[in-house]
Amino acid sequence: VRGMRTEFPVRSTWLQRLISSLVAVNNVDLDILPGQTVGLVGESGSGKSTLARSIIGLEDPAAGTISFDGQDLAALTRSQRRATSRDIQMIFQDPGSSLNPRRTAYQIISEGWRIHRDIAPAKGTWRDEVTELLERVGLSTAHLDRYPHQFSGGQRQRISIARALSMRPKLIICDEPVSALDVSVQAQVLNLLAQLQTKFDLTYLFISHDLSVVRHISDRVVVMYKGRIIEAGSRDQIFDTPRHPYTQMLLSSIPVVRPWRHSGTRRIPVRNDADASDTTSAGCAFAPRCPWAFDRCWNDVPELQQRNTSTQQAACHLSDTQPAPHQASEAPQP
Ligand code: SF4
Ligand code: MG
Repeated sequence: VRGMRTEFPVRSTWLQRLISSLVAVNNVDLDILPGQTVGLVGESGSGKSTLARSIIGLEDPAAGTISFDGQDLAALTRSQRRATSRDIQMIFQDPGSSLNPRRTAYQIISEGWRIHRDIAPAKGTWRDEVTELLERVGLSTAHLDRYPHQFSGGQRQRISIARALSMRPKLIICDEPVSALDVSVQAQVLNLLAQLQTKFDLTYLFISHDLSVVRHISDRVVVMYKGRIIEAGSRDQIFDTPRHPYTQMLLSSIPVVRPWRHSGTRRIPVRNDADASDTTSAGCAFAPRCPWAFDRCWNDVPELQQRNTSTQQAACHLSDTQPAPHQASEAPQP
């Protein structure tokens, strides 16, 4: 994804005097390599889902290119898009509302074959094929003719995974797939996704507001804040040496399982007060909440960039100085 921008028109007339549109995704570049799991994290409203929906064609980006298998998806017409649509599948947070309540598991999972005839199994074998998919996701033939309300939340998510697999996709976008599930069920679904990835050569874009979930499953991690990517790197880079103050804040708010690994990282208090959210910045969007904001931060938008030879990228003016002051000195009290 290069230079993606997705905006929504503002309908209220009194608001239109101030702004004509809300920018949900702002000049985003994103790389997802085959076989990888890229974790996309950020608070709700940071633009994660809009970015995902723009990639899959559910939103119409105002600018940008999406190069997928050598094709620019953003340049395709709607009908051309439909032909390639099975390659990218999406799993949503609430399978309760994304599964049709009037259809059985069998009907839900085999639905796509009616549209994409080229990958549909031979007539007469559909029930066997669906049974096989059910078994792959840890369900059985006994579940074929049940309706969504007869399943638990975790089982419903398994059905949406089976539905996605029925399309033999290359990329699956998982938008908060375990956020609505109990913690014990979360782990089962994450393990299942990991197994299926190896088995079917899948690539995942895994969206979550929960860093501990992302840590579990990702090879690379990308952090979004107010429509922009503010940090990107390997899982270890992001969790062991986070460079952006926002990523550091997110990390300091999750319980540390192995505290000795973090002995060099200072904890930063999460700032989420009303003062901070009412202030806006023409430069770094995080400035109102950042304990290290200085003059330049309020006027200049920091670019996402690498420092030295590291592959880790951050969008913060402090990254220009070395060592970064926020890694070298005590955190000021916000
Ligand atoms: Fe904080 Fe400035 Fe870095 Fe933004 S650019 S995160 S305000 S130090
Ligand atoms: Mg969302």
